[in-house]
Amino acid sequence: MEMLDEITGLMQEMIRNKCINPPGNEMKSIRTVEQFLSSYGIESEIFESAPDRGNLLAVMEGGGDHPSLMLGPAHVDVVPVENEKDWLVPPFDGTIKDGVIWGRGSLDMLYIVACQTVVFAKLHQEGFKPKGNLKLCIVADEESGGNYGANWLIQNHPEKMKVDYLITEAGGDHIGPHRITYVYGEKGKAWTRLSFRGEESHGSAPFKSKNAVVKMAKAIQRISEYQPPRNTSLLKPFIKAMGIGTVTRALMGNTRTLGFMLEQLSKRSMGDAVFLNTMTQMTISPNVCEGGAKINIVPGQAMVDVDVRTLPGQDMEYVFAQFRKALGNLVDDVKIEGAPVDIGGRFHPGNISEMESPLVRIMESVVRNLRGQEMTLVPMVSPGATDSRFFRRAFGTNVYGFSIHDGSLGTGEIMAMFHGTDERVPLETLELTSKGYMEIVRKFLG
Ligand SMILES: [Zn+2]
Repeated sequence: MEMLDEITGLMQEMIRNKCINPPGNEMKSIRTVEQFLSSYGIESEIFESAPDRGNLLAVMEGGGDHPSLMLGPAHVDVVPVENEKDWLVPPFDGTIKDGVIWGRGSLDMLYIVACQTVVFAKLHQEGFKPKGNLKLCIVADEESGGNYGANWLIQNHPEKMKVDYLITEAGGDHIGPHRITYVYGEKGKAWTRLSFRGEESHGSAPFKSKNAVVKMAKAIQRISEYQPPRNTSLLKPFIKAMGIGTVTRALMGNTRTLGFMLEQLSKRSMGDAVFLNTMTQMTISPNVCEGGAKINIVPGQAMVDVDVRTLPGQDMEYVFAQFRKALGNLVDDVKIEGAPVDIGGRFHPGNISEMESPLVRIMESVVRNLRGQEMTLVPMVSPGATDSRFFRRAFGTNVYGFSIHDGSLGTGEIMAMFHGTDERVPLETLELTSKGYMEIVRKFLG
C-alpha cells in the first residue's frame, strides 16, 4: 500500500479511538500502532503506566557507537472538544474531504504518530540497517503533564529511553515563502500564587478597613504593568534566519530598542509581536483570582494564580525576585510561592538543545530536496511545554520539533488549531512529512 493510505488509515482509527485526556485510555491507540507494526513483522514493547494508559517502544538495533535517533515521543492522547457543533465536520469521525483529514488530535499530534510509525515500518521492510539505534516511541499523557507517558517511561525504563537525538512535535510551519521553523527549545513554567491577608470586618463600615481583595487588585495592576528584563539571545538567531534587514535586526536585537520595535510591530501584526515577545522575556499573566466570602464581610483573604513562563536559565529565585520588584512597597502584604502541585504548579525550567547540529543540517538539506534549494530552517523556542523537556533533562538529548507543513495554512491558522476547532491536516503535509522523516533517518543513520 502507498505510505499515504497507511498514514491516513492509522490516523482515522486513532481519531475514532477518542483517547481524550483526561482520562486518556490511550491503550486503544497504542494497540492500533502495535497491530500495524506487527503486520510488518515488527515486535514492539508495550508499557502500561496505569490501567489503560499505554506506551509503546520499537527498536531497530544499530551497531557501533554511532549516535542514536528516536522518532517520537509521539503522543496519542488528545484534548476534549468543547462544542462539537462548532465544527464543520464531526471531530471524531476521521473525515477526509477536499484533500484534508479532519479531527480532534489530527494536528496535535496524530499525524506525526502515523508518519513516524509508517516510516519505521517501511524502513524495516526494506531491510534498513541503521548505524546507531533507531527507536520509535509512542506515548500517553502528553496533554496532562506526561506522568503516565514520557516522564513515566524515563523514570521507570531510563536505559530503554536514553537517546542522543529525537524528532517530535511542533515546528515545520512556513513563515514567509522560503522558511520553515524547527523547535529546538521551550520556555519554562513557573506558575506562582500570590496570597493576601486582610482583616475581616463588617462590610457596612469599611472606613480604614484592611481589605484583602483591594490589596490583591493593586498587586494585579502592578504585576501586569511590570516589564521584566528583556534578553534577546533567543530572538537574534530567529530574526537572522527570517532574513530581516540589518537595521531592523539591530534595533530588535538591542534590549533598549526592542520594546519600541514590538510596539510598532503590534500595530501591523499583533500575532507576530505577541510571539516574538515570548522569546525575549519571562512573561506574567495573572489568570485566576479568588477572595471574599460574602457581600457584607470585608474579606480577610484573597489570592491570585499567575501563569509565569521563564526563559532558559531563569529559576524560581529569579521569578520571586521579579515579583518583589514588581510589587514594590506592596510586597510586605503578599505571600509569594509556587502554585500548588495539584493544579500543575510544579516548576520546570526552560530548556534548549543545540541550535546547530548534524541532525539540523540534515533536516535542512531534506527540506531543500523536497521544497526547493532556497528553503531555510528557522530556529524557534516555543512558549509552551511538551514532552521534550524530560529527555533534555534526563539524557541531554538533542530534541527537535519538526515536520513539514505544505504551506496551505498560515502559521496563525495552524496555531489556532492546536486544541481548537476544525483541527485538520492537509494530505500534502502527510506526504511531505513522511518523505522528510524517511530521508532524515536514511541520512542520519544510513
Ligand atoms: Zn501535542
